[in-house]
Amino acid sequence: MLHTSCLEISTSAYFQNIEFIRSRIGTGPTISSVVKGNAYGHGIAQMVPIAEKAGIHHFSTFSSDEAWEVLESSSQKNEIMIMGMLHPEEIPDLIRNGIQFYAFDFERLEHAIETAKTLGLKAQIHVEVETGFHRTGFEWADRKKLLEILQNNESALELKGLCTHYAGAESAQNHIRIRSQIGRFKEFHEFFTENQIQFERFHTACSAATLLFPESHMDLVRVGITGYGFWPTRETFHLLKDQLPLENRNPLKRLLTWKTQIMSLKKVESGEFVGYGKSFQASQDMTLAILPVGYSHGYGRNLSNNGKVLISGQYCPVIGTVNMNAVAVDVSHLAKTSPGDEVILIGYQGENEITVASFAETSDLINYEMLTRLPAQIPRKIRD
Ligand SMILES: *Cc1c(COP(=O)(O)O)cnc(C)c1O
Repeated sequence: MLHTSCLEISTSAYFQNIEFIRSRIGTGPTISSVVKGNAYGHGIAQMVPIAEKAGIHHFSTFSSDEAWEVLESSSQKNEIMIMGMLHPEEIPDLIRNGIQFYAFDFERLEHAIETAKTLGLKAQIHVEVETGFHRTGFEWADRKKLLEILQNNESALELKGLCTHYAGAESAQNHIRIRSQIGRFKEFHEFFTENQIQFERFHTACSAATLLFPESHMDLVRVGITGYGFWPTRETFHLLKDQLPLENRNPLKRLLTWKTQIMSLKKVESGEFVGYGKSFQASQDMTLAILPVGYSHGYGRNLSNNGKVLISGQYCPVIGTVNMNAVAVDVSHLAKTSPGDEVILIGYQGENEITVASFAETSDLINYEMLTRLPAQIPRKIRD
């Protein structure tokens, strides 16, 4: 089937990003590739084989459905870790398949223990502790109850990890909070060690912590956005810039190129309105190219009269509103255009580039949101 647009995923760009992360963390810590949100829009089925080629054999997902997709896409033995949602009735299948999952409250922990005992197997769990993010994790005040359960159920549990998550390591304004979280995590670490509970790995770092807090690396880093070639925020880049080998050279490389083609051309006379409503009136005679992508394809309405695309290596502005399935761009300044011409929505054409950040309205975290909104139906093509 032919689709109205396609996404290309660059293997070499991923290798470069992983190499950069490796240069920051040294050879010790394991890199877990975070593939929640359909691998930040890149496609789990595409990213798992690429990551395997880059030597990565640990994957983190938010939910169990994503974990199954990682398993299906794996051609080697990988560790798969669910950091968020699963349904209690899935626990038997997860245990049987050796899929690891977070235990962040007593309900889930007890479910896991009961199920493992019934099956005569061990549940492979990561104990998540609350250090200040206040979303999920065992409270400091509950540590003794937790300890007792872990001590009494050694036969049912394989303790793969002790972990936590930081509340916004990408921004300097949160750094006091992050340091206090690191401190609290150390206290949990010491508490369990003193009581002879052993975890295979300690892990806390997302991309921003990986880049900015070496003490957060421990045994494993959970790297999402940076693997895909983006700074968690612009601020993260500025905080780190001085440590980079060549100033102003970006060591990260975007994997993603988003392409479509011209569906049709349209002449518009001066004074005519374009598209729905009156948001755009031609002030001169124009030629418009109609592109077969709209907000249903992840090309946001916020790009109405605002976005740009590349055709023949030149920037062409969006004219009027972005519709559900189509958008018009101004091609009056191009020498020659025809239906079928390649259009770049994200990526390079010649010297010019459209970045994901140029989709931004206000939020600094726009990369995450824009990427994960790319619909799973758009075909993804792996390239070198
Ligand atoms: C999403 C997530 C990560 C990865 O975050 P990035 O900023 O994309 O690197 C790591 N850990 C947890 C618990 C997460 O939810």
